[in-house]
Parts: sequence; structure tokens; C-alpha cells
Amino acid sequence: MHTPTDGWTTCALGHRHWGLAGAAGLLLHRVGADGPEVLLQHRADWSHHGGTWGTPGGALHADEDVAAGALREVCEELGLLPDDVVLGERSVDDHGGWSYTTVLARPARAIEAADLRLDGESAGVAWVALAALDEVPLHPGLAGSLARLRPLLLRALAR
Ligand SMILES: [Zn+2]
Repeated sequence: MHTPTDGWTTCALGHRHWGLAGAAGLLLHRVGADGPEVLLQHRADWSHHGGTWGTPGGALHADEDVAAGALREVCEELGLLPDDVVLGERSVDDHGGWSYTTVLARPARAIEAADLRLDGESAGVAWVALAALDEVPLHPGLAGSLARLRPLLLRALAR
């Protein structure tokens, strides 16, 4: 579906970003067998920053609430429904003229990566241990936000 906010834009930091109204993603977290984990999407090779791992999400529509936008994107990309998750804190990565909002969330039911229905933008999805994030090629947006997201994650996981 084409919306008026579809398109490339250049932020104040000189990156190219998709989505004129900014973007949002969902950072699902849980405590797994090997400690804290986050659900990451392996981006399809043809996509922007293809081959990297990032939070599922995408461009916001005009005047769309960031949480609603993040949920809409994870529904499209992974088949998750709003009732499948419990939303937590938000963190905004403001690049100047474009921003990415990460919405933390925990599963409201058991969510196994193998059960998710992927669309064409995803080459895969997996729970990745927080301690192993340095070992996978991260999307530059996620890599750049990790220092800010990590304390939020640890706080959320401690609840
Ligand atoms: Zn940027």
C-alpha cells in the first residue's frame, strides 16, 4: 500500500532513511535459557542494510502513534498481533529531521521464532542473547542505539 509518507529522506546526520514521518520498531525482550534475549529480524538481502539484524519495524504513517505504527509493522512482518505483546518504555533516536522510536515490549504469550509468519522483508527472525549482540552484524540504527537501549532493557527485564 502506498501512503503519503512513503519515500526516502536524508536526516541531519547525512543518512538516507525510508519514511518521511520517521519510523518505529518493536524490541521484544524475554529471559531465555541463556539469559536476556531480544527478538531480532534478519533483513532480506535486497532491503536497505540487507543482511543485518535489527528490530522489526518500519516507516510511520502520517499522524500515526508510534506504538500503533510499530505494532502495524510487526503484524505485517512477523504476523504478531497487538494482544501478543505488552508494551513498555519508548526510546527515541532523533537524527534531526528524522527519528526512530524503539518501543520495548515483552511477550504476552510464548512467542517462538519458528512459529512466526515472515513476509518478504525478513530473511529470518530469532531470539538473540543480549550478551551475543556483538557477534551478529547489527543494523546500524540498532547498533547506534544499543548504549541507550541496554539500560532500558535491563530495567524492564528486572521487573
Ligand atoms: Zn539518520
